[in-house]
Amino acid sequence: MRRVTTIAEVRKAVAEARARGARIGFVPTMGALHAGHGALMDASVAECDVTVVSIFVNPLQFGPAEDFHKYPRDLEADEAFCRERGVDIVFAPSDEEMYPRPPRAFVEVEELTAGLCGAYRPGHFRGVTTVVTKLFHIVQPDVAYFGQKDFQQAAVIRRMVEDLNFPLEIRTVPTVREADGLAMSSRNRYLNPEERRAATALYRGLVAAREVMEKGERDPEKVRARVREVWAEEPLVREQYIEVVDAVDLKPVSYIDGQVAVAVAAFVGTTRLIDNILFPETGSLT
Ligand code: AMP
Repeated sequence: MRRVTTIAEVRKAVAEARARGARIGFVPTMGALHAGHGALMDASVAECDVTVVSIFVNPLQFGPAEDFHKYPRDLEADEAFCRERGVDIVFAPSDEEMYPRPPRAFVEVEELTAGLCGAYRPGHFRGVTTVVTKLFHIVQPDVAYFGQKDFQQAAVIRRMVEDLNFPLEIRTVPTVREADGLAMSSRNRYLNPEERRAATALYRGLVAAREVMEKGERDPEKVRARVREVWAEEPLVREQYIEVVDAVDLKPVSYIDGQVAVAVAAFVGTTRLIDNILFPETGSLT
């Protein structure tokens, strides 16, 4: 495995692999790697000849009051993690390498970014789509892997790739969870033991939502109320949103038919966590 830090180096390494006819898989991350990232790497290693992982905490996607400066960074551990998973190239650029001067060009996906997290994190998705565009141009992968955990992000990037004719495929990988159901996230490290226990309510709420839908409930308000009911038992959990949206266009539905996502965001203490489930689960977005 090679760790490179410059755009020139990663381009050269990928060009050499491509000249040998290799299929290039790409997993963009912000580091602090866990088994969720690992599942994306496993998918790429299984389907591609060469896997590139980027590790870059992108300042452009953090709001001024968000956790950019305290976001966990541990490049040595991340590098070991990637090596164990069979990754070929780790691209870990500095902020200066990615943004040598203040950017004046941005990529924006409209409408899909208006609701859910987009409503509470102004500029976040513009930061994501801009950096992912840069990374796609730098790495030029055949396939890029994203997690279902960040469901809106995956849908936004999928739409960007279709609308702007990026010559690559997007794959979405199911959410990897802790044994008690909590979706793995780099931000889980912020939780103290009491908050960590309370955080299981997010997924418990989603499981309860799935149960009522499986029993035939088709009114999204009833489904949202069911999640809220579960969360009400955990005073440490503060709702930001609970939405039932169409799985592709992300618009709230007034009746549940076709595939929907139940998507949630909540603060547990001061830590903001998100999660979601698809219903029905079959025919997911991969
Ligand atoms: P991040 O480092 O948080 O930007 O995440 C990098 C990629 O890993 C994104 O595509 C995430 O959706 C994905 N990811 C993060 N957590 C999980 C998880 N628990 N299960 C599956 N994918 C995940």
